[in-house]
Amino acid sequence: MIKKAKNLKVFISCILLIYFILTTCVVLGKQIKHAFRFKTVVIDAGHGGKDPGAHGAYSLEKNVALAIAKKVRQLITDDMPDINVIMTRTTDRFIELNRRSAIANENNANLFISIHCNSSPEGIAKIADKQKGVMLLVYGYHRKGEQMEALRENASIYIEKDYQKNYAGYNEKDPTSMIVLNAYMQKYRKQSILFGELLDHEFVNNDGRKSRGVKEQGVLVLAHSAMPAVLVETGYINNPGEEKYLNSKEGQDEIAHSIVRAIKKYKEEIGTQ
Ligand SMILES: [Zn+2]
Repeated sequence: MIKKAKNLKVFISCILLIYFILTTCVVLGKQIKHAFRFKTVVIDAGHGGKDPGAHGAYSLEKNVALAIAKKVRQLITDDMPDINVIMTRTTDRFIELNRRSAIANENNANLFISIHCNSSPEGIAKIADKQKGVMLLVYGYHRKGEQMEALRENASIYIEKDYQKNYAGYNEKDPTSMIVLNAYMQKYRKQSILFGELLDHEFVNNDGRKSRGVKEQGVLVLAHSAMPAVLVETGYINNPGEEKYLNSKEGQDEIAHSIVRAIKKYKEEIGTQ
């Protein structure tokens, strides 16, 4: 009899636990769906001020990155007026990497795009076209711990205000919270790769650029961003042909247009997910 009662207690506990998990998933799912509106993009011009980044024969990465970033901002403002664009810098000034992702996190950005130029280790290439093309970097797994930190610090932004009321406070020791954080990490990784692939497609198929594809790397500026984030290597500044392209109006316009087309496609795809 006692054993039966004990079994019944365990059975009821299990039912209650399953019920709790299911209702949590349903409520969270609704909140996430409701909370998701693609409205803010952060454009990060790499380097700046005392940090020039890579250089070619006559130009610096920090200036090329800023010029392209400004064009992207202008195009989004013109073509997608419902999107809020935030720049991490608009002038030639130095900003710490952590500050860049903090700007994105504080503004509850939906996408973080960091603009850079690549450089081949040989220095200024003697033979033109030695190293050329674009490369897209997304956050790599070996820095998982750091992104977890960023997510934890910003968890309140991603979980609606009602979360506290509904779940009696967010508790990082609570396994449910850890499950939620992990789910976000997986989701952001997938979305970062999706945006990277869409942009890669634009560069290759629309602009005829060569590409090294989308790669996962432990890039610091992406590590602390609690949203999908992609670093765009727009070309090799120390390749004479690419340096010319990266500094030209045509080249910068082409890159900026491709980035904005990829944002549009990404917004559409995310909206239907
Ligand atoms: Zn760079």
